[in-house]
Formats: sequence, structure tokens, C-alpha cells
Amino acid sequence: AFRAWVIEKGEGGQSVGLRQMDEAELMEGDVTLRVTHSTVNFKDGLAVTGKAPVVRRFPMVPGIDAAGIVDASSHPDFKPGDAVILNGWGTGETHLGSLAERARVKGDWLVPLPEGLEARHAMAIGTAGYTAMLAVMALERHGLTPDRGPAVVTGATGGVGSVAVSLLAKAGWHVIATTGRPAEADYLKGLGAAEILERAELTGPAKPLAKERWAAGIDSVGSATLANLLAMTRYGGAVAACGLAGGMDLPSSVAPFILRGVSLLGIDSVMAPKALRLEAYRRLTQDLDRTALDRMTTTVPLEGAADAARALMAGEVKGRVVVEIG
Ligand code: NAP
Repeated sequence: AFRAWVIEKGEGGQSVGLRQMDEAELMEGDVTLRVTHSTVNFKDGLAVTGKAPVVRRFPMVPGIDAAGIVDASSHPDFKPGDAVILNGWGTGETHLGSLAERARVKGDWLVPLPEGLEARHAMAIGTAGYTAMLAVMALERHGLTPDRGPAVVTGATGGVGSVAVSLLAKAGWHVIATTGRPAEADYLKGLGAAEILERAELTGPAKPLAKERWAAGIDSVGSATLANLLAMTRYGGAVAACGLAGGMDLPSSVAPFILRGVSLLGIDSVMAPKALRLEAYRRLTQDLDRTALDRMTTTVPLEGAADAARALMAGEVKGRVVVEIG
């Protein structure tokens, strides 16, 4: 038996608790992991609080990310003792997730823990940080470089935002960080932000076009914020859309696309192919400043995961949360 957070649905709605589970309750998969670290992402917050219907099966173990050691494997690429990382693929949504001491998954979903990266750092990165890296890579594929102008990051004190600020600053960009928490300006400057912009400046209705302010953007907010970002993007620039913390709608127009050649780059981490994941982890291992990563990370024990998820949804978490499982 092992300990797991379990979300159940009954007459009175959804409940969540830490309980004992048996390995026989785990779902199908060719690799069983001893989870040493997990993390709390936005989606885990939605799952634990029930704020959005991301959980598609009950009972569900939340947790979309794991770092752990292979316990048993019939997959050709993995053997007992291997250190691995898991991000997404529907874990914590349709497949039992990783806020637990054990997980059974498909070996095809796993990537090896890169040489030189500790498991706790892999989970400090988590889906949020790996998504920020995917966004940076998408902007690079678009041919954008720091000499083209500033880069804007929305939801900057959040998980995706904090890692995006750090990665872009390290790559030489002049980073404009937008936040609803101006009191965290020093935190954001410590991660490399050159300027802080108040969230409220981007949440009003967007004009089709506005003054050109940045060449690139990484957005985890969506809605009017993304519409404003697009309207303020320089000729030929691009915005990578990662999230919906502010809403799923996009009240925009085609004006930025057809009059300024602006591009909207879609970022998905959940089903991203393995080659892209391996490249993202190679880059994260090489480019992400570990001191900055430590500065944006809070660590909680497995018992603290649900409270951390609720705090994340309440906008009380800065940066990333690592769940130390042991
Ligand atoms: P997070 O840590 O909660 O960060 C979200 C940040 O957005 C908050 O810290 C806050 O930043 C800002 N924010 C929150 N509510 C807002 C509102 N109503 N209006 C404007 N800004 C708001 O979450 P995360 O883990 O970074 O995830 C961010 C988003 O990306 C989520 O929507 C998540 O689902 C999505 N995501 C998508 C993928 C993918 O594969 N595409 C992967 C990971 C995450 P400030 O306080 O600094 O303003």
C-alpha cells in the first residue's frame, strides 16, 4: 500500500483526501514508478478544487507531473532504478496521477531525468516551466531574437510566467513582466525582468491595433490580456499562447495578423511529442538559472499538496511549488 491524494465524486459533490491505495488500484501501464517528487500546477489546482472539470474519471489521483525512480518496467527503454520525468499525457485528468507515492504509466510518456538535473529541480520546472521553454522555443523557431525589441510575459509571478521571465532574460531579451501583484516587483526583477507593467493595463477591451510595444510575448492569461498583447505587438512579431488564467475567450480582431504580420503561436505541453520534450529538457538543463529556479520555488510535503493547490487557485502562490514525496 502507498499514500495518494484521491479525488472522489459523490452526491454532495467532489471530495479530496490523502488515503492509502493498493498497487492493484493503479491503472494500466508498462512502467511503475516510485514518485520522489511532484508539483502543483494550475491544472492540479483546478482538479483539487473542482473549479473546472479537468478530472474525467473518478476516483482520480491528481498530479500531472512526476519525477521518480522506475520500480518495475516491461518497456524496452526503462529498467528498475532509472530516474525519469513525467509531464502531462492526461495524468491527473484521465489517468491516475502523481500526487502519490506510486504511479503506473506508459513508458512512452517518460523522459529520462537529464544528466545534471536533480529530481527536485525537474519538478520545480514541472509542466509550467517546461511549457515556458516550449514557448521560448516557438518564438525562436519564428526567427525572433532580442535585437527585434522587448519581450512581454503575462501572469509573470505565476509558474509559467516566472520561468518564462528567467529564460528570456538569460537569452538576452529586455523583459517586460506584467503582474497583478506589483508588490512582487523585486521578485520579478530578481528573475531578470527589466520593466514591470500593471496587469490592469492589459485587461480592458483591446483596440484592433495599439502602439507597438514588444516583438515577442509569452501569455498564460488569455482573454482580453492576449487580445491587448496582440494589438501591441510590433510588425512581424509573435505571441505564444500558453494559458487561460484570465479566461478562455479571445476578444481580438484579425488586424494584428493582416496589418502587422503578427503571429499567434499555440503551445501545448500535454500531448507534445517526445522529441520536443527531450529538446525542451536539454535546453532547460543548459539554460535555466538554478539559483533563479530555487528563488521561485516553495517546497511542501505530500500532506501539504491539496492546501498548496487551493492557495494556487486563490492567487496566493508565487512561482512554483515542489511536492517532496521521498
Ligand atoms: P499560476 O502559477 O497560477 O500562474 C497564473 C498567473 O496568472 C498568476 O500567478 C497571475 O499572475 C495571473 N493571473 C491569475 N488570474 C488572473 C486573471 N484573472 N487575470 C489576469 N492574470 C491572472 O499558473 P501556471 O501554472 O503558471 O499556469 C498558467 C496558465 O497556463 C494556466 O491557465 C494553465 O492552465 C496554463 N498552462 C498551459 C499549459 C499548456 O500546455 N498550454 C501548460 C502549463 C500551464 P500575476 O499575479 O503575476 O498577475
